[in-house]
Amino acid sequence: MRSVPYTSLVILGGGESGVGAAILAKERGHAVFVSDGGSLKEKYRKQLQQEGIAFEEGQHSEEKILHADLVIKSPGISNQSPLLKKIAEKAIPVWSEIEFAFHYTDSPILAITGSNGKTTTTSLLFHILRQAGKDVGLGGNIGASFALQVARHPKPLYVLEISSFQLDNCYSFRPKIAILVNITPDHLDQYNHQLSQYAASKMRIAQAQQPEDYFLFCADDAETNRAMIAHPVRAISLPFSLHTAADNQPGAFALTPTSYRITLPNTLETMRIEELALQGKHNAYNSLAAGLAARLMDVRKEAIRESLAHFESLEHRLEPVATIHGIHFINDSKATNVNSTYYALESMTHPVVWIVGGVDKGNDYAELLPLVASKVKAIVCLGIDNSKLLDAFGNAHVPVVEVRNMADAVKASYHFAGKGDAVLLSPCCASFDLFQNYEDRGLQFKSAVRSL
Ligand code: ADP
Repeated sequence: MRSVPYTSLVILGGGESGVGAAILAKERGHAVFVSDGGSLKEKYRKQLQQEGIAFEEGQHSEEKILHADLVIKSPGISNQSPLLKKIAEKAIPVWSEIEFAFHYTDSPILAITGSNGKTTTTSLLFHILRQAGKDVGLGGNIGASFALQVARHPKPLYVLEISSFQLDNCYSFRPKIAILVNITPDHLDQYNHQLSQYAASKMRIAQAQQPEDYFLFCADDAETNRAMIAHPVRAISLPFSLHTAADNQPGAFALTPTSYRITLPNTLETMRIEELALQGKHNAYNSLAAGLAARLMDVRKEAIRESLAHFESLEHRLEPVATIHGIHFINDSKATNVNSTYYALESMTHPVVWIVGGVDKGNDYAELLPLVASKVKAIVCLGIDNSKLLDAFGNAHVPVVEVRNMADAVKASYHFAGKGDAVLLSPCCASFDLFQNYEDRGLQFKSAVRSL
């Protein structure tokens, strides 16, 4: 077990990861203080009180914070904020909850990062491992925090979904298997609008890996290939790709347009996969990445095939909602950037009425134009400010309308769609102008569809 050579810890942010880190820290004998600039959720306030952990909310007492030996920062707090700058000036180390919890477990970790597909790939891999009978914990951005699990329900193996914000404050975090699903522009406002800085953050998943670890990457993703040149990887790098490759190349590849193979390094043992439950090219990548990782963990071929063939799709990610008068309604509310919507449109096999819009994070819609031309029959813009969408698609030769709430969006889509068409909510944008979050947006969509 590694050690944490700091006595007095301040935890910034009292959400899932902060409270988990606080509980683990107290249990391991550190002095802990939790500071949250906003108000705590009732659940977390109670938990801290029950555990007897000191905290403050609605403020950050700098005096206390700047005397910490170690700061553990929640991913939602920006490294660019004035408080974090002062902490940096005092040279106080800042760790993420993931880095901290890693110091208190020796169990192997399978970690997944990327711009799109993290949750899907993480859930798939967890599903395969559990179906294969492994005792495995699921954490990171999903479910209970990694730190809380290490403190209260330690497991012999963990599958973790990791965001770039968590990786920014990781240093010795060393996954046995790291999966980088892809790198496409997202959250660039936090990275000085430099894709290279965001990519560098993603590559931190491999920075502490050793030659006996594995790094799985999407060989078809140009940005990943560039990042791997800028940040060489020490681990055994294994590609997954939807192209074919030489028979003896280790990794996961297409054999035909609808069948795939996974080949292990060293033994070159190969398995074939014929059926994937999750549809769309993007999900083929996610399935290959999860299957390859499971194979490296010695899961039997048949168990992998079975799990990949029967995995049920996740809510808000190309989720089929209902078919009404022959119109297929699909909820892809989690698509908050151009790349995820690109794959959603690409996977559509019916003419599409497309609901798009929200808070634009600096999108360039140009790469969607060919798909819109070939697949989309009408566009419903759902947002407070739709001007960029109107500029981008105003000349697309399909009807474009604007609406300001979900009920109207669904009604307008229903009006444009006919039997055999799909109505796809794949907004390309964040949801905060009209909704609490992407889940709220997806739930409102489903409820509006069901009340048609
Ligand atoms: P994340 O956790 O990285 O946000 P999710 O699995 O929740 O990823 O999927 C987010 C969105 O991206 C969904 O709209 C989904 O359909 C799309 N998506 C999933 N996997 C990929 C991928 N490999 N490439 C591009 N888009 C993807």
